[in-house]
Amino acid sequence: MPTLVFLEHHEGEIVRNSLGVLAKAASLGGDVAGVLTGSGVAGLAAQAGEHGASRVYVADDPALEAPLPQPRVDVLAALVADKGFDTVLFGQSVLAADLASGLAARLDAGLNWDLTDFEQRDGKLVGKRPALADSVVVDVGWTSEPRLALFRTGSFDPVPTGGTAEVEEVPVQLEDFSIAARMLEQAHEQRSGPSIEDADVIVAGGRGLGKPEGFGMLEELAEALGGAVAATRAVVDAGWYPYLAQVGQTGKTVSPKLYIACGISGAIQHKVGMQGSGTIVAINKDPNAPIFEFCDLGIVGDVTELVPKLTELVRARRG
Ligand SMILES: Cc1cc2nc3c(=O)[nH]c(=O)nc-3n(C[C@H](O)[C@H](O)[C@H](O)COP(=O)(O)OP(=O)(O)OC[C@H]3O[C@@H](n4cnc5c(N)ncnc54)[C@H](O)[C@@H]3O)c2cc1C
Repeated sequence: MPTLVFLEHHEGEIVRNSLGVLAKAASLGGDVAGVLTGSGVAGLAAQAGEHGASRVYVADDPALEAPLPQPRVDVLAALVADKGFDTVLFGQSVLAADLASGLAARLDAGLNWDLTDFEQRDGKLVGKRPALADSVVVDVGWTSEPRLALFRTGSFDPVPTGGTAEVEEVPVQLEDFSIAARMLEQAHEQRSGPSIEDADVIVAGGRGLGKPEGFGMLEELAEALGGAVAATRAVVDAGWYPYLAQVGQTGKTVSPKLYIACGISGAIQHKVGMQGSGTIVAINKDPNAPIFEFCDLGIVGDVTELVPKLTELVRARRG
C-alpha cells in the first residue's frame, strides 16, 4: 500500500491533524510518504520524518505560497501518476477538503469523506465513517485506485517516532486554469493559547452558562489550566461564542486529555465530538442531565459558583 499523506502546515509547523493521519498510516506498515506544498517549506520535512514518513516529497515554489487548492491538485495528481501511490490521505481542513475533492475529480478517483479510522482487512483498506447522526459507525471501501480519504479532525494523535525521512524535491508544473484564482487577503484568528484541536485541556460551555459573559470565567479557567475554550452548538447559534469553537456533529471532533463540560446537557450531537476525550468532567445543576451518563466525574452544582472556585484552586496549586 504505497500511501501518500498530504502534510498541511501553518505558521512554520505541520498541523497536528496531518501528523495524526501520518502516524495512523505508518502504524499500518507499508511505505508511507508525505507531501509538503508551499513556498519555503523544505525545512518542515524533518518534522514529517520524526512522525513516521519514510520519504517526503517537497513541492516548493512561490506559486504555492497561498493556501489555494487547485495548484496543489496539479502537484498531487502528478505525484500519484509518477510514483504510483494507490492511497492518498488527508486530515480535514478547508484546504484539504477542497484539495481532496479536486484531486478525486482530476483522477476520477473515489473519495471517502468524514472518516474517523481505517484498517487493513484481508489485504483491503476499510474506512470507518460515523453515520445516522453519528449513532453508528459504518465500514466503507473503495472500488478503484487511487483511494482517497479525508479524516475528521482529532481522529488520530501524532506519534513521534524519531525517524528521518528521505527528501525529494518535485517539479511544480501548474495548469493555466489552476493559477486563475488569487488569494486577495488572509485573516488570522486572534487568540492566545492552544486551539481546541491541539489543546490537552478543554473547558467547554453550554447554555447553562446563562449568558454570553459566562464564557469569561471559562476563559480564565482554561488559561489557568493552559487549555482552550469550546462551546456547544446551542450557544454558538445564539451568538455567545464563535463557531470555530463548536464541538460536535456539525462542529469539531476533539480528544483532549481532559474535557470539562460546564452547563452542557450532553446531547448526542455534542457527545460525538468529545467522547474520545481522556477524562470527562461535567458540571451541571440537573442530576438527571444525560452528560452524567458518560462523564468520568460529575459535579451537581451551579457553574457560576463552581468554575471561579475551581480557577482559584488551580491558580493556588500552580503557584
Ligand atoms: C443536526 C444537528 C446537529 C447538531 N450539531 C451539534 C453540534 O455539533 N454540537 C452541539 O453541541 N450540538 C449540536 N446540536 C444540538 C444538540 O442537539 C443540543 O441542542 C445542544 O448540544 C445543546 O447544547 P447545550 O448543552 O449548551 O444546551 P442545553 O441542552 O439547553 O443544556 C444546558 C444544560 O445546562 C444545565 N444548566 C443550566 N443552568 C446551569 C447552571 N447554572 N449550572 C450548571 N448547569 C446548568 C442544564 O441543566 C442543562 O443540562 C445539533 C443538533 C442537530 C439536530
